[in-house]
Amino acid sequence: GSASRYDFVIVGGGTSGLVVANRLSEMKGYTVAVIEAGDSVFGNANVTDVTGYGRSFGTKIDWAYLTENQTYAGGKQQIMRAGKAIGGTSAINGMSYTRAETVQIDLWEKVGNKGWNWRTLFPYYQKSEGFQVPTSDKIGDGADYYIGYHGERGPLKVGWPKMMTNGSVLPILDETFSELGVPYNRDVNGGNMVGLTSHPNTVDRDANIREDAARAYFWPFENRHNLKIISNTLAKKIVWDNNSDDLAVAIGVEVTGPDGNEVIYASKEVILSAGSLKSSVILELSGIGNPDILDKHNIPVKVNLPTVGENLQDQTNNGLSYAGEEFWIGGPTFSALPSAEQIYGNRVSGIASSIKSSLEDYAKAVSNSSNGAVQEAHLLEAFQLQHDLIFKSRVPYAEIVFLPIGHSFSSEYWPLLPFSRGSIHIQSADSFKPASINPNYFRFEQDLDAQAEMAKFIRKAFGTAPLSQFVGEEFAPGLDRVSENASDSTWRSWVKSNYRSNFHPVGTASMLPRDKGGVVSPELKVYGTKNVRVIDASVLPFQLCGHLTSTLYAVAEMASDLIKKRYIF
Ligand code: FAD
Repeated sequence: GSASRYDFVIVGGGTSGLVVANRLSEMKGYTVAVIEAGDSVFGNANVTDVTGYGRSFGTKIDWAYLTENQTYAGGKQQIMRAGKAIGGTSAINGMSYTRAETVQIDLWEKVGNKGWNWRTLFPYYQKSEGFQVPTSDKIGDGADYYIGYHGERGPLKVGWPKMMTNGSVLPILDETFSELGVPYNRDVNGGNMVGLTSHPNTVDRDANIREDAARAYFWPFENRHNLKIISNTLAKKIVWDNNSDDLAVAIGVEVTGPDGNEVIYASKEVILSAGSLKSSVILELSGIGNPDILDKHNIPVKVNLPTVGENLQDQTNNGLSYAGEEFWIGGPTFSALPSAEQIYGNRVSGIASSIKSSLEDYAKAVSNSSNGAVQEAHLLEAFQLQHDLIFKSRVPYAEIVFLPIGHSFSSEYWPLLPFSRGSIHIQSADSFKPASINPNYFRFEQDLDAQAEMAKFIRKAFGTAPLSQFVGEEFAPGLDRVSENASDSTWRSWVKSNYRSNFHPVGTASMLPRDKGGVVSPELKVYGTKNVRVIDASVLPFQLCGHLTSTLYAVAEMASDLIKKRYIF
C-alpha cells in the first residue's frame, strides 16, 4: 500500500489504546493512527448483550492465548482470553467496575515511580467515568454509592444494569457475611475495598448494552479528521532509525493488513497498547529485551532490557455452586472482598509468619526461572511489600462473586494477590507465531493453600444462615467429590483440576526504575528509547485488588496528559 504517515501511532485499539487515541487526537495539530488486529464489534450481540458474559469466548474476537503446561497446577495448558476487536478486552469482559486500594496505588510511587499515587490517579478515575446515578428502584435492589467517589462527566458509562437481581438477595448476603466478620461496604470505589458490596458495571443502563472502550472513547469521535483506525491489521514490529544520543528512535510500525505488508510511519511516537500478552512480545520482536532470548532468534539487540516479558502476574479462578430455592433473574453485581484475617480467622498470624519466612525462597525461585534476568533482591522487595499489603494494610485477599441465576446460586472466586510470577517470551522471530506464556500458577505453596482455603470459606458461607436457607444441594465441587470434612489435599486437587485463569495478567513491561528491573519509566517510556511507550496492563508493576479496567482507563488518561504536556505549550 501507499505510505501512511501520522504523528502518533498506537498499536492496539483496546481498553487503554482507545483512551490514548482519543485524548491525543484532541490536540488539533497532530494526527493519530490506531492499528488494531480486530474489527468493529459495534453490532455484535455477543458483545452488547449485558447478560451475555462468555458468549464471545472461543469466537473470532477472542485471542484465546494458550499457556505452557502448568507444572504446579495440574499439568495442563490454560486459555488466557483477550479481546481482538475495536474495544479490545473491554468488549468481552465481565464489566465489573472496581478500582484498587489506596495503599496499592501508593506503592507505585514508593518503589520509585514519581508522581504515581492514589491522590494523583484518583482525578483520572473520575475523568474517565460517566457515572449513572442509580434510580430509586435500583437503590432498592442494592445499588449504593458515595457520589464524591465518582465522575459524572467522563465518557465511560458506569452504573448498575437495567435488570438487577431481586433486592432481597443483598440483605441475605449481608446478614450472612457479617456473621462471618465481613462488613458491608457501601462503595468500593473510594480506595477501601474490604467488605460485601454491590459494585457498578461498565454498562449503558438506558440503552441496556455493554459499555466498552470503543463505545466510550472511539465511536462518538470517529469523524475527527486527525484520528484514524486501521483495523484488521496486525502490527509486527517497530521500525527504527539510527540511534540519537544513544537512544533507539522509532519511525514506524511494520504491519500486515488486508492489502498486505506496509509500514505505518510515526513522526513523533509509537505507543504500544496491545495488552499484557502482546506489547512485550512486540518489544522483543523489535529488538528490545533480554539479549539471550533475542540472540536465539537472530534478532539484533536494539536495547538490552532483560526484564521485558518477565514479572507476569495473574490470578486463578474457581467456582462453587448450589441449587437455588428461588428463581432469580437479572444482572448480579454482588461480591465479597474479605481480608486474609477474615478468611483465616485466628490462624492469620501463623500464616503471615510462615509466608514471611518463605519470601526469600520465592524470590530465589522466580529469579532462577528468569535465568537471573529478574534480580532476587528486587523480587524480595516486591514480595515484602505485597506481604505488608495483605497482613499489615489488610487489603482484600479474595474476591467472591455471587451469581444467583435461575434455579442456581453460584459463586466464582480468586485470591487477589498470589505470589507466583511467570513470563511471556517469543519462540520465533515470526510475528505470527505464538509466544510462550507461563504464568506459573500455584508455583508457591501459599497460592494453592489460599485457593483451597477460600473455597472452604465460601462453603462455610453457603452453610451459614440466612444464606443457607436459600440454597440446596451443592453442585460444585459437590459433597461426593469433596466431603464435608475433606482433607486439604482433596481440596487442593479439586482446585487444580477445575481452576482457570482469572484473565488479569499484568506486569510484563513493568513501570519501575530501570535499576530495579523496570521496562518503562514513570512517563511510560521504554528505557533506552527516545519515543516508544507502553500504555496498557503490561505496565502495572503489581497485581491489584480491583478488576483491571477502571485503573487502566485512569492510567491511560493520566499517561495521555503526560504526553500532551510535551506537545502543547
Ligand atoms: P486490551 O483491551 O486487550 O487491548 C489490546 C488490543 O490490542 C486488542 O484490541 C487487541 O486486538 C490488539 N492487539 C493485540 N496485538 C496486536 C497486534 N499485534 N497488532 C494490532 N493489534 C493488536 N476487567 C474488569 O475491569 N472487569 C471485569 O469484569 C473483567 N472481566 C474480564 C473477563 C474476561 C473474560 C477477560 C479476558 C478480562 C476481564 N477483565 C475485567 C480484565 C480487563 O478486561 C483487561 O485487563 C483489560 O481490558 C486489558 O486492557 P488493555 O488495554 O491492557 O488491553
